[in-house]
Amino acid sequence: MKRITSDIVISGGGVAGLTAAAAFGAAGFSVVIVDPALPVTNAAFEGADLRTTAFLQPAQSFLDDIGLWGRLAEYATPLQVMRIADVSGEGSGARVTADFDAADISDKPFGWNLPNWLLRREMLARLTELPNVEFHAGTGFVSLLPRETEALVMLTGGLQVRAKLVIGADGRHSAVREAADIDVKTHRYGQKAISFAVSHPSPHDNVSTEIHRSGGPFTFVPLPDHEGEPCSAVVWMEKGAEVNRLMALSDEEFESEALTRSAALYGSLTLATRRMVWPIISQVASALSAPRTALVAEAAHVVPPIGAQGLNMSLNDIATLLDLAREHDLGSRKMLDAYQKARHGDIKLRVNGIDALNRASMSNAPFLQDLRVAGIKALHDAAPVRRGLMKLGLGAS
Ligand SMILES: Cc1cc2nc3c(=O)[nH]c(=O)nc-3n(C[C@H](O)[C@H](O)[C@H](O)COP(=O)(O)OP(=O)(O)OC[C@H]3O[C@@H](n4cnc5c(N)ncnc54)[C@H](O)[C@@H]3O)c2cc1C
Repeated sequence: MKRITSDIVISGGGVAGLTAAAAFGAAGFSVVIVDPALPVTNAAFEGADLRTTAFLQPAQSFLDDIGLWGRLAEYATPLQVMRIADVSGEGSGARVTADFDAADISDKPFGWNLPNWLLRREMLARLTELPNVEFHAGTGFVSLLPRETEALVMLTGGLQVRAKLVIGADGRHSAVREAADIDVKTHRYGQKAISFAVSHPSPHDNVSTEIHRSGGPFTFVPLPDHEGEPCSAVVWMEKGAEVNRLMALSDEEFESEALTRSAALYGSLTLATRRMVWPIISQVASALSAPRTALVAEAAHVVPPIGAQGLNMSLNDIATLLDLAREHDLGSRKMLDAYQKARHGDIKLRVNGIDALNRASMSNAPFLQDLRVAGIKALHDAAPVRRGLMKLGLGAS
């Protein structure tokens, strides 16, 4: 059995766990980060996460502070306009289109889009620059024993770490959350998302477009050109049975269905990646902390992929935890109580808000669709409401 000591153990080397390791490592804390899976850092390899993350504006300065933005900037596609289109009426043309332009509230874009596999590659490269961060790929969290001044963390392979703070960043089925005996409230929508990238003849002009009909939104998020053609990441949400049908189609048949569902916004669509399926749930942990333990990211909250909130909320978790770690005795009850107080309310508010948006987007009842159209128009046409909403979407509370 091997025993080591560290300030912090992070369980989970997904995008959130790697960001937390870079953040705490850059701040001078010693960090051991573990993940039973080996990181996949090439889009062409089996198991690559082909989703993209739209980082919202406030994420940029945080990623910069922790030494990540400099590595990511050259690959990031700016998102200048968020467009909502509702095509639930007759025919395939848009019934209502509302543009939310970042220029209304700021001289910066709303955010920047980056592929998840590339984030992992660049984040891992950053960790190699931090001598106080050890990444143990192929090692999993097993259990923890909290004590007065530290926790004893048991890992696979017989490794034990004594640490002041354990961060659970190990996803929606978090082993740390379970070990800390923290409950979750889960809502299942019977919905799934298909994520993929497409090239198309018309340019996206750095506009991200959410197209609503029924079943859930179909969202284009801008990417750099692919083989000389404009390219976008797509998240297409539908009921589970419809997703199963779409996934069984050939590429050509799928492209044709996607063209119809997108109301031919950018013209014909050609797949630039494989298609991947993600189950859609809402989930909130009943608490964000337990003795010597803090939960961040999907270990603490899961939302449907609407409004690019998921990982952006996670960055707020990590930034808050880091601020508190600088102010308090690391992993102390005072620090963890302050974390719970600072984040749990905002998380519950956003999870409920996205849940409501998702239910409205799923609906195929004509009355509710009319209400949705009227709602989009009203929110957009009142300029102060529109600007307030945009700020709220970016993370203002
Ligand atoms: C289709 C789709 C599109 C999305 N788009 C956006 C977007 O544009 N913007 C945005 O902000 N968010 C977006 N999200 C949400 C975002 O992708 C997630 O919030 C984020 O990827 C989750 O990261 P995570 O690190 O918390 O979890 P995961 O990526 O699930 O990572 C958890 C890690 O923990 C590891 N693990 C599991 N068990 C153990 C164990 N016992 N010990 C140690 N490690 C363990 C796993 O191997 C995994 O690597 C999207 C989500 C979906 C489904």
